[in-house]
Amino acid sequence: MKVVALAGGVGGAKLADGLARCLSPDELTIVVNTGDDFIHFGLKICPDLDTVCYTLAGIANPETGWGRGGETWNTLCALETLGAPTWFQLGDQDLATHLERTRRLAEGETLSEVTRFFCQRWGIRHRVQPMSDDPMQTIVETDLGDLSFQEYFVKYRFEPSVRGFRFEGAAQAKAAPGVLEAITSCDVVIFCPSNPWVSIDPILAVPGIRQALLRARVIAVSPIIGGKALKGPAAKMFSEIGIPPSAQAVALHYGSLLTGFVFDRLDAGEEMGIRSLGLRTLITDTVMKSPADRQRLATQILTFAQQELLS
Ligand code: GDP
Ligand code: CA
Repeated sequence: MKVVALAGGVGGAKLADGLARCLSPDELTIVVNTGDDFIHFGLKICPDLDTVCYTLAGIANPETGWGRGGETWNTLCALETLGAPTWFQLGDQDLATHLERTRRLAEGETLSEVTRFFCQRWGIRHRVQPMSDDPMQTIVETDLGDLSFQEYFVKYRFEPSVRGFRFEGAAQAKAAPGVLEAITSCDVVIFCPSNPWVSIDPILAVPGIRQALLRARVIAVSPIIGGKALKGPAAKMFSEIGIPPSAQAVALHYGSLLTGFVFDRLDAGEEMGIRSLGLRTLITDTVMKSPADRQRLATQILTFAQQELLS
């Protein structure tokens, strides 16, 4: 079965890893949000791409879900001594990724090419693609004014109240080579349990992607469980936009793009409401604490998708 997974960082990476454990390299393409990308110390940093790649390569920090395992922080400590900004945590090994990516981009490689090369070096066999090779920036509109995503998320620890979002550069951006073709030729697209507002929506804002999805079977997995996000601001964003956070709110957010929806047992009471949106549903344990959980959830979703294909 040919699958395209749309993913942000930590939540997306976990399911992407589960899918990679179930599908062969020619069956899976992972399209990753780059709206969080930014320049820091002159370096191009792609937080979600790195989280997905480190996770698939088995070199991620298992505690945080982001950054690398066994990391050291010598450079950051030395930067602190110099009074340099240290709000963004840069580990020594992680820094090597940003340095080499920046060097390759300056030599004229595209972000897709750099990502493909890094995947080879890290032993990742499945295809990981940025949503676009063009710069696109998620801006969070807050009561403190407009903030770039990393400022909002890391510097201000997502405390400011959210009023809206915009994706700068979206109108001029092109989907990365192969992304639209992968969506058009796959059997199912899976929206990983990533933040709908700032991880999946930026991907949907890339011209052509939404249109391609309209002709595909699309299954979304809820990142909201029991009205809460497991981590991060997804639930807080729903509330501040004026929508009570729930699995159903996630399904409604994606609306007519979806054909199927996967949500947690804890929210089984929402089944009728979600089905009334015309969606097929899979209710299961969706919390992925271990690699085995990731693989089990991925297997269940693929079986669910297979049933959808047959129906
Ligand atoms: P980020 O870019 O690092 O913020 O990560 P994502 O956008 O990919 O994922 C963030 C979302 O993942 C949060 O809303 C979490 O609730 C959700 N999440 C994290 N782990 C899990 C999990 O194991 N299961 C589910 N269903 N959602 C998860
Ligand atoms: Ca992110």
